[in-house]
Amino acid sequence: MQPFIFELDTNGRTWQSRANCLGVDPDFFFPERGASTREAKAVCAGCEVRDHCLEYALVNGEKFGIWGGLSERERRRIRRQRALAGRAVSA
Ligand code: SF4
Repeated sequence: MQPFIFELDTNGRTWQSRANCLGVDPDFFFPERGASTREAKAVCAGCEVRDHCLEYALVNGEKFGIWGGLSERERRRIRRQRALAGRAVSA
């Protein structure tokens, strides 16, 4: 189950339809290795669905690109922290 894909707001819109990056060059969000992520992160900073986007990427294991304003490495760190927190709770 992927809870964030079909979630609709009160106007029946998906979170993707409210994304700040609609119409923005996708290359900003999938930069070549070592290229700047500044432009993408600036777009994400003003995005009203940033939390949804980040959670979508985390739940779906998106390995590439900028999602929710975070890079692959930054998302990996969150996944690791969550995994550790989950282990601590179940121990
Ligand atoms: S957080 Fe960034 S990548 Fe995600 S929908 Fe918003 S603008 Fe697009």
